[in-house]
Amino acid sequence: MSKRVVLIGHPVAHSLSGAMQQAAFDEVGIDARYELWDRAPIALPDAIEEVRGDDFLGVNVTIPHKERVVPLIDKLTEDAQATGAVNTLTREGKRLVGHNTDVPGFAAALDTLVGRQKMPRQAVLLGAGGGARAVVYGLIRAGFQRVVIFNRHLHRAEGLVRHFGRSAAHMELKAMPWHESIIESELAKTKVLINATSIGLNADVSPIPAEILTGDLLVLDLIYSRTRLLRDAEGVGATAQDGETMLLHQGASAFALWTGQPAPLEVMSQALAEARAEGVRSAEGEPVGDEEAVPEAAAPAG
Ligand code: NDP
Repeated sequence: MSKRVVLIGHPVAHSLSGAMQQAAFDEVGIDARYELWDRAPIALPDAIEEVRGDDFLGVNVTIPHKERVVPLIDKLTEDAQATGAVNTLTREGKRLVGHNTDVPGFAAALDTLVGRQKMPRQAVLLGAGGGARAVVYGLIRAGFQRVVIFNRHLHRAEGLVRHFGRSAAHMELKAMPWHESIIESELAKTKVLINATSIGLNADVSPIPAEILTGDLLVLDLIYSRTRLLRDAEGVGATAQDGETMLLHQGASAFALWTGQPAPLEVMSQALAEARAEGVRSAEGEPVGDEEAVPEAAAPAG
């Protein structure tokens, strides 16, 4: 009987993960179908009960359920525990284990971004949502000594700092209010800039003005396209990378967890490229966030 793997989110139309995982199952010869389940938060507990059944090989969980799913499952891996977020479930009999493969996904993206240079020690992070949790944890684990988080709603960034308080006790992890001048002065002291907001996902706007970017920055945008921020970064000679490496590697880790086999990275990467060429932009399907209400610094220049 064909096995089932489901992506539970809300909404989940047009998933890049679907294209990538289905191509991987087909390539390796695993009889499995990747299904998209659009479930509002109120329907999440029932969905989680359903995937305990024998016909399910595994589950991906995405916006807005990554944190909400935690109390509904039986066991968490260290990465899931540390971030407080789960994006992948595996089954042990009827028991469900929660993993966070955004963590290895981000680690792969950071390594690619840094390349052969020495791993930097300071980073500026824009955003404090689910994606940002994996980023903060990944930066702590990579040995960063100073990470400053800017977010439209400051309290959410402060919440992240509190969440990671213990694991970040040896370093400086700070939340700062979203003011262009403060971001500029922090950027002048840093080497790595990461955008984990969804600004730029739906519209050609950057979270920060091009003028405050400098040529020695390494810029990673978690969004899976050549955003305005990345084009601006390239324009001043900075190194720029989009979210595809992170997406690919979080998917590869999930595939390996479900199947016990190494993921066919080339095939998954090709499937991602094809889905992107067809206009699919988000692993979560429809865009998240409210592009109308960008903070002042996000207003496009000119
Ligand atoms: P969340 O909804 O959890 O967080 C969204 C973040 O964007 C928050 O920091 C939010 O700020 C900010 N934001 C949204 N709209 C605006 C706006 N108009 N002005 C200012 N800030 C805004 O989403 P995720 O963290 O899961 O995802 C964020 C982005 O990262 C998405 O584009 C997603 O596709 C991408 N992503 C990519 C991954 C990959 O594998 N490459 C993995 C995970 C995410 P506030 O808190 O103030 O609302």
